[in-house]
Amino acid sequence: MRFGEYGGRYAPEILIAPLQELAESYASFREDSGAQSELETLLTSYAGRETPLYRCRNLGRETGVRICLKREDLLHGGAHKINNTLGQALLAKRSGKVRLIAETGAGQHGVATAMAGAVLGLSVEVFMGAVDIGRQALNVARMELLGATVTPVSSGSATLSDAVDCALRNWAATAENSHYLIGSCVGPDPFPGLVRDFQSVIGRELYHQSLALEGRLPDAVVACVGGGSNAIGTFVPLLDTPVRLIGAEAGGRGLSPGDHGASLSCGTPGVLHGAFTQVLQDAEGMISPTHSISAGLDYPGVGPEHANLRDIGRAEYVCVSDAEAVSAFRLLSKKEGIIPALESAHAVAAALRLAEDMDRGSMIVVTLSGRGDKDLGTILGGGA
Ligand SMILES: *Cc1c(COP(=O)(O)O)cnc(C)c1O
Repeated sequence: MRFGEYGGRYAPEILIAPLQELAESYASFREDSGAQSELETLLTSYAGRETPLYRCRNLGRETGVRICLKREDLLHGGAHKINNTLGQALLAKRSGKVRLIAETGAGQHGVATAMAGAVLGLSVEVFMGAVDIGRQALNVARMELLGATVTPVSSGSATLSDAVDCALRNWAATAENSHYLIGSCVGPDPFPGLVRDFQSVIGRELYHQSLALEGRLPDAVVACVGGGSNAIGTFVPLLDTPVRLIGAEAGGRGLSPGDHGASLSCGTPGVLHGAFTQVLQDAEGMISPTHSISAGLDYPGVGPEHANLRDIGRAEYVCVSDAEAVSAFRLLSKKEGIIPALESAHAVAAALRLAEDMDRGSMIVVTLSGRGDKDLGTILGGGA
């Protein structure tokens, strides 16, 4: 499947058959009403859906714009990631797989995969750079408590991209009994489409809740974009409406190479992790280093569907700096009693900026992708 010119399956020969098998099992899973109702039960009674649409009582009072939050931060595990890991783990189990493979940087996706594996009785192996393991001791402890094996990767820079290589190599050797559970709407086909589908529950609920609670659809929705899964899940059910779709990328310390993670604002077309998309790279195609105060947005690529939505003019993407995200983090905490993830604080900051230019009575929905307890160390450690 392609999204305009983006997407595709740029994978080594040895992975083509497992990817094709996955595409076929997913096609049956989608049509299987038993599978869909099992997923719905898990999302409801295990993960905590549906999440509230909360109209901020205090924020935006000055601007006169209604700002509502789609509260993915209230889900089990504290972020939207569980929508995807439960979906893929159930798909794997129903396809006869007994083991999940994942890779993780900061550890959030590893923890969400370990939860899904535990509840569905699948074994889980998480590949993690040795450097990241040192930095993220608490998430390593969580994964192990949840029954996962955390395998350190010491090759290369011993961080996320080395863990991705290891996980893919492992999948190539074990695909018969294992599923590679990718953490965002990135990677070779069919991953971007299936992750989008599992996250689209966000936008579907938002659509109905907006009509039920506010009597209208919002003028705009805003979501942060790392790989882009919470954003694509927010956007896709609204594609055929007049709602403005706005993604907030990591503007980091500024827009010089190495200082940000803004693949759509500053990238060029290229292949990353098996898909043709917008990539932060130099003139020779070497992937650039990236920076963001939030680990979840610190990624040199973006889901291919976002690249296409940008090109066709259906979605807009803006940059939010580390400093703006930290101000929004503090503001939402103080005004509404909600401590957002630093990733989500990028979306809040973009919404506040947008509100300044909107008419009184306008309505914005921000997808609050996760909660911020995990980020207190960064804030207190001088990130502010
Ligand atoms: C992982 C994460 C993100 C980034 O992932 P996307 O695929 O871009 O949604 C954003 N927010 C939170 C809270 C996360 O944990």
